[in-house]
Amino acid sequence: MTTGVDALLTTADRDLQPIGEKILAQQRITPEEGILLFEKGSLPFLGALANYVRQRLHGNKTYFNRNFHIEPTNVCVFTCQFCSYSRQYAHRDEGWELSQQQMLDIVRRYDGKPVTEVHIVGGVHPKMNLEFFIELLQKIKAHRPDLHIKGFTAVELDYMFRKARLSIEEGMKRLHAAGLDSMPGGGAEIFHPDIRSVICADKVDAEGWLKIHEAAHREGMHTNATMLYGHIESYAHRIDHMDRLRQLQDKTGGFNTFIPLKFRNKDNDMSQVAESTIVEDMKLYAVARLYMDNFPHLKAYWPMLGRQNAQLTLSFGVNDLDGTIDDTTKIYSMAGSEEQTPSLSTAQLVTLIRQAGREPVERDTLYNEIRNFKDIDPNMIGMDASLN
Ligand code: SF4
Repeated sequence: MTTGVDALLTTADRDLQPIGEKILAQQRITPEEGILLFEKGSLPFLGALANYVRQRLHGNKTYFNRNFHIEPTNVCVFTCQFCSYSRQYAHRDEGWELSQQQMLDIVRRYDGKPVTEVHIVGGVHPKMNLEFFIELLQKIKAHRPDLHIKGFTAVELDYMFRKARLSIEEGMKRLHAAGLDSMPGGGAEIFHPDIRSVICADKVDAEGWLKIHEAAHREGMHTNATMLYGHIESYAHRIDHMDRLRQLQDKTGGFNTFIPLKFRNKDNDMSQVAESTIVEDMKLYAVARLYMDNFPHLKAYWPMLGRQNAQLTLSFGVNDLDGTIDDTTKIYSMAGSEEQTPSLSTAQLVTLIRQAGREPVERDTLYNEIRNFKDIDPNMIGMDASLN
């Protein structure tokens, strides 16, 4: 199993060989070793090791889910420099604000369709408060109890809880009781204050973000974690970010998935910053797989990377492609990503995964397997109601 990787180790930079040996022996690598991997690791070296870890954890399986997004608003009280999506409250006529009824209408559009998850995230609107979202959650659950609701970044929750004058624990309990099942990983960006104070100075800091996720884990909910990479951060900042997540995961075990998000530079206040190359992107995925040894899953968000690049990530540690999405998010299309109308049918997503030589497996939000599409002809998916 390891023969190919072993051979690669002998030709690697001398500083990297012990790191490679540690990874093959399933030992944790240190922050310094993580930085060295970024600095000196060649693409084939990192790719082979990351693929080895991915195969050990998941074999050939690549997960996807059937989901749709609701973005309640893009009006936001914060002013993140990289954000192409938000509009300030004073300019809210240029953005959107959905009523509860409009959001429920979106949920109803999926009646009878085999989606398993709704993903709810948006801007931080000063008038959409905790009570508004508690009611929304209750109404969605009343309409479709089986739909898993993954909602609200720690940034949105920090604002909601502070405005409601509730502790994080109390606020989380109320949302959970109203129907919130899990949390997405957004708003993490880069934790290190030297970078955070430049790119998103006014929103919740690293400690606040981590506390909210810890509270969700203690409440029995799973969450994800992201990292916005490829702008002004150094390799050390990336490792610092991943290390803080790895430490919390050691404590709680509540994270499911790590999702690196590539910085895109269209129509934002950081448009002068060049985007990372595809080689840098793949190295990042590989190092993430090697460093985040206690995260079960590594996900590529295809609307942001583009479909073909997302296929490539499956050889650099990734074992999950974000779902069918159904053209229900604008977050990355507004920042200039390749996918201006992000939507894939199940057949297309299955084909994408198979083209990369992997085995497509539909999962629910918590990674329970729903169906293995290994032996199902993608052409049949549209014709068979039980698959569609
Ligand atoms: S990234 Fe999120 S918090 Fe920041 S301005 Fe955009 S919508 Fe608001």
